[in-house]
Amino acid sequence: SDVLELVGIEKSYHTGKPNQINVLSGADLKITRGEVVALVAPSGAGKSTLLHIAGLLDSANGGVVRIAGQDVAGLSERRRTGIRRAEVGFVYQFHHLLPEFSALENIVLPQLVNGTSQGAAEARGLALLESVGLAARAGHRPAELSGGEQQRVAFCRALANAPKLLLADEPTGNLDPETAEVVFEALMTLARDEGLSAVIATHNPELAARMDRIVRLENGRLV
Ligand code: ADP
Ligand code: ADP
Repeated sequence: SDVLELVGIEKSYHTGKPNQINVLSGADLKITRGEVVALVAPSGAGKSTLLHIAGLLDSANGGVVRIAGQDVAGLSERRRTGIRRAEVGFVYQFHHLLPEFSALENIVLPQLVNGTSQGAAEARGLALLESVGLAARAGHRPAELSGGEQQRVAFCRALANAPKLLLADEPTGNLDPETAEVVFEALMTLARDEGLSAVIATHNPELAARMDRIVRLENGRLV
């Protein structure tokens, strides 16, 4: 079945009395297992809004959100948080790594919270770091890493608990082309080997063209 299904999503913001911005107006999206989809839109079109709704960080004003076949409408905040933690990984342009912990610890911690053993968590953390060329940086704290290296650690952290769905906002935006390629290849490998699905907002047309599908956000709808 579909990992993510959005049907007729409506979202508007009220900014003062006469002003209502309709950001999403009937947005539909289906993502199947192992599918990697590029989300392309001009700045301000509503990409972040869409990703936040898909990742249960924000609620729509209308429409249906299903994650792994489950309609999230009417679920308690606690259940939504549970689904988000278990099924969804996020990568942001501005990561929030914990500064007092090493790269590896930043990837291990969410796994410990999720009930994984220390040994298994470290093994997965190291494998993820290795997949993005950072095995030698495992013991370094964020401040000791370059911005691009921190971004790659954030990517690994998002995948720490083997989510079914990765939602990423310009994950390779501040990486040099070679490093962006390494991260992209790591993502495609996870899609192939673990059935990871992903929605990747990107401004890089070349990268978008290599994903399984491109969806454009135009006038509040996905085409
Ligand atoms: P994108 O990620 O594509 O740049 P966003 O989803 O961040 O777009 O924003 C889409 C539109 O909604 C923009 O016009 C933005 O100003 C507006 N917007 C986003 N968040 C809010 C908010 N909390 N309150 C009011 N307007 C918002
Ligand atoms: P901000 O700095 O924008 O006020 P936060 O620091 O709380 O917001 O969050 C930074 C980013 O993390 C935002 O894009 C926000 O949507 C996202 N975020 C907030 N809460 C969570 C959560 N529980 N899980 C994953 N991402 C979250």
